Amino acid sequence: MTILAIDGPAAAGKGTLAKRLAAHFGYDHLDTGALYRAVASRSLRTGETPEHAAERFAVGDLGAGDLRAEKVAQHASVVAAVPAVRAALLAFQRDFARRPPGGKGAVLDGRDIGTVVCPWPDTIKFFVTASLEARAKRRYEELIAKGESPIHAAVLAEMAERDARDAQRATAPLKPAPDAILLDTSGMTAEDVFHAALAAIAGKTR
Ligand code: C5P
Repeated sequence: MTILAIDGPAAAGKGTLAKRLAAHFGYDHLDTGALYRAVASRSLRTGETPEHAAERFAVGDLGAGDLRAEKVAQHASVVAAVPAVRAALLAFQRDFARRPPGGKGAVLDGRDIGTVVCPWPDTIKFFVTASLEARAKRRYEELIAKGESPIHAAVLAEMAERDARDAQRATAPLKPAPDAILLDTSGMTAEDVFHAALAAIAGKTR
């Protein structure tokens, strides 16, 4: 089973790359950030502790309407620092990686896929990053495209706060696996990133 792990900070281009690679190879894609967002959304909605919300997590929670809201993103990075939350979501992610629905391969994007969820030597691991300014600009433009009226400085500050929380937590912090392929996407288009990743995969699987 081929497993592609794509980790990195917010708005570095992980999701776009993961979707393109999955479509190209006919693999299944799991956006693991959505799991933490779903737990955060459930805990905000029901008042359950993050641990309880994670234990009761069901695939239906991924349909919550507020998953992409900034409030939920911030709370996701708070609940994601709780070891019991991470433990409760681990089996689901590993199962998906080892037995993806289509049976051909899996692409998982997140923060700890290459380091904790699928740290195995045959996982092909990417660490996708970009400068804070480039990432904040992308997120700002995404929000404008959605018809929102974001404040650039606030987008940048919220992103910096969330990345710092993700990188500094004790359990499964955001960091590249020792054998990860590093891609700095600051000056790159999504198309460039996709081709760079394809070339790296070809180099690994030759
Ligand atoms: O990728 P996304 O922005 O949707 O992730 C939301 C939050 O979920 C991240 O800021 C991080 O705290 C958490 N997360 C994580 N481990 C993952 C994926 C996401 O801790 N594998």
